[in-house]
Amino acid sequence: MTSIYIHVPFCAKKCPYCDFYSVPYRKAMAEDYVQAVIRNLHHYQNFDTVDSIYFGGGTPSLLSVKQISDILETCSKDFKLDSTPEITLEYNPARTDINHLHELREAGINRLSIGTQSFSDAQLKLLGRTHTAEQNLQTVRNAEKAGFYNISCDIMLGLPYQTEEILSETLHILTSLPVQHVSAYLLQMEENTPFYTNPEILDNLPDDDTSADRYLQAVYMLEDAGFYQYEISSFAKPGFESQHNLRYWYCQDYLGIGAGAHSCIKNRRFYVPKDVELFCQNQLQEEITISETACNPEEKLMLAFRTSRGVPISSLQPEAQKKLNMLIKNDYVKLKEKDCIALTPKGFAVSNAVIATLLL
Ligand code: SF4
Repeated sequence: MTSIYIHVPFCAKKCPYCDFYSVPYRKAMAEDYVQAVIRNLHHYQNFDTVDSIYFGGGTPSLLSVKQISDILETCSKDFKLDSTPEITLEYNPARTDINHLHELREAGINRLSIGTQSFSDAQLKLLGRTHTAEQNLQTVRNAEKAGFYNISCDIMLGLPYQTEEILSETLHILTSLPVQHVSAYLLQMEENTPFYTNPEILDNLPDDDTSADRYLQAVYMLEDAGFYQYEISSFAKPGFESQHNLRYWYCQDYLGIGAGAHSCIKNRRFYVPKDVELFCQNQLQEEITISETACNPEEKLMLAFRTSRGVPISSLQPEAQKKLNMLIKNDYVKLKEKDCIALTPKGFAVSNAVIATLLL
C-alpha cells in the first residue's frame, strides 16, 4: 500500500513568510508540468495499491479542473486504488466559486485542505495573503454545499500581534464552520524570506513562552470543540485524521511526483530537484532524482513522537527510560496503553526539547 503526492509548484503571488518551492503561475508552463506529471505516473504504474492521493504545493487549485481530472484519471488507470482512497487538494480560499468547487468534487477530489490561515483580516494582511476572512468563510461554506464532507483548514500561530483575543476569535469562527480537520502551524522564520529581514515583523514576534501559550490555547479550544489532537499540528473530529499525512509520521511508503517532491519507497528515500523546467524537460523524474539516506531508527522515533500514538517504552535507550518519571511528573509525557508513551499538549509545545531529552 502506498500514497501518491503530487507537488504543484505554482503560486499566484509569493507569501512573504513562505520558503516552500514555488514559481509564479504561467499557463503554458503549468500545462507542460501536468503532462510531465502524467508521464511519470504512467512510468510507476501498478507498483502498489494506492490509498491516498495528495495535491500539495504551491497552489494546486491554480490547475484547471481538466488538468486535475486528467491526473486523477491516469492514477485510476495506472494504479490499483483502494476502495475508498482519500484524495486531497490544497485550496486557496481567494477563490470562493461554488461551481469550481462542485467541479472539483465531480472530478474526484473528496478532501479539501483550505489555506485559511486566520479569520482576522489584519492578520491575513500582515501575512500577505490574497484573501479575506469573509472569503475564508464563503469558501468553507461553499465547499460543503458543493459536496465536500471532509474539509481541513490551516491556521497559523505565533504571529506578530496575535493576542489571545484575536486567536480566540479565529478559533470560534473556525469551529462553528463545517470543518472536520484543522492543521495549526507555528510561524517559522525562514532564511531567504522577506519576513526574515522585515523589522516590523522582527520587532513584534512573540517570544517562545507567548507562542507556546497560543499553541496551548489552540489545542484546548479545538479539543473543547471536538477536535482531538492526533499529531503535533493536526486536529480531527474522530474518523477524519489525514490518512495521507499519517503515512509520513508512521514512516510508510509514499511516492512523490514533481519538482521538489520527496519519496520513500521500501526504505529508499529520494527527491526531485526544485526545478520546474528540469522536471518538464526530462522524460522521467528518475533521471534526475537525488538519493537520500534511509530513515534511521532515531528519525523514525522522532516522527512517531509527533503523533498521539507515541512510541513503545522498550524502543528507548535505558538512560532515556530513567528520565521518563520526571517528564511524566511534569506533564510533558503521558503513559498510554500497551506500554507506550506519547507527548502531552504541554510536551508538544516544547517537543524539540522533550524529544532531545529522550533520544540523546
Ligand atoms: S504559503 Fe502557499 S500560497 Fe503562499 S507562497 Fe507558500 S505555497 Fe504559495
